[in-house]
Amino acid sequence: MLSSNFNSHIRKVLDCPIKKVEPLSGGDISNAYCIYTQTHRFFCKVNDSDTALDMFYTEKAGLECIQHTKTIRVPEILGCGKYEGYSFLLMEFIEPKNPDPKDMETFGHQLAEMHSYVGQESFGWKMDNYIGTLPQSNKTYTDWSQFYIRERLLPQLKMARDEKLLSSEEIPSINRMESVCQMHFPKTIPSLLHGDLWGGNYLIGVQGDPYLIDPSVYFGDAEVDLAMTRLFGGFSSRFYDAYSEQIPIKALEKERVGIYQLYYLLVHLNLFGKSYYPSVSRLLKTYFGQR
Ligand code: ADP
Repeated sequence: MLSSNFNSHIRKVLDCPIKKVEPLSGGDISNAYCIYTQTHRFFCKVNDSDTALDMFYTEKAGLECIQHTKTIRVPEILGCGKYEGYSFLLMEFIEPKNPDPKDMETFGHQLAEMHSYVGQESFGWKMDNYIGTLPQSNKTYTDWSQFYIRERLLPQLKMARDEKLLSSEEIPSINRMESVCQMHFPKTIPSLLHGDLWGGNYLIGVQGDPYLIDPSVYFGDAEVDLAMTRLFGGFSSRFYDAYSEQIPIKALEKERVGIYQLYYLLVHLNLFGKSYYPSVSRLLKTYFGQR
């Protein structure tokens, strides 16, 4: 539970008396709370780890970057800071409902609009951020394959090798990754990505409005977000149909979806351990073969 000092700090940030604080379940990384005032509810994540403040700042910057596109909603951020060793991110509370087909159609349209937003000419982002609790480097590149190999695959492959989750022999050479990625990757322009778009990272509000939450944003190939949506079962067909009315899903997408999912599976391997090894190993063999 939040201490009374922490509560009074949040009260100051909100500039409003707090009626009640309720712990919420569902967070993988931080403790989550619903904060009630006389008239409103707020959502607050709290975490006492050393990197939490940086994680929350970059999450806030990512949400604000999405908000700036005016294409899809995100919760409004009301505060971000650290008090007595506890970092917090305070935002609008979104009352969720179960998505119906129409909501998923709206979500597909709005995600395609976000992906069509022209924000920057290079791949990467203005700041590094996190994927789960792992650092995600976003150094910018004009070449998508180079970005994907050097900023996405390599850091996770090296981490897995250092943690003895993969052997050195299983790590493809840069030359091999370059030739495979150049063969499979489309000519693409940098789209703003959510960056971690699984089913737990969007909410449908009671009015049917989709909201993106907990992003790991950067500019990359839009198909990366689609690949992540398909990793654990996929979203409903109405979502993909609506998306492809705006951005045709390219015929070759099926051929590279595994390379894009490989990044997320490596992240899972590094975060949660060897139960993800068989999927990682299969994709490494499928795409990069033996050295
Ligand atoms: P963590 O970063 O710890 O994984 P999440 O951002 O996933 O935390 O949020 C934890 C839980 O709170 C999830 O169940 C999520 O659906 C819910 N949630 C996240 N943001 C909001 C919000 N603004 N309003 C209401 N519920 C939210």
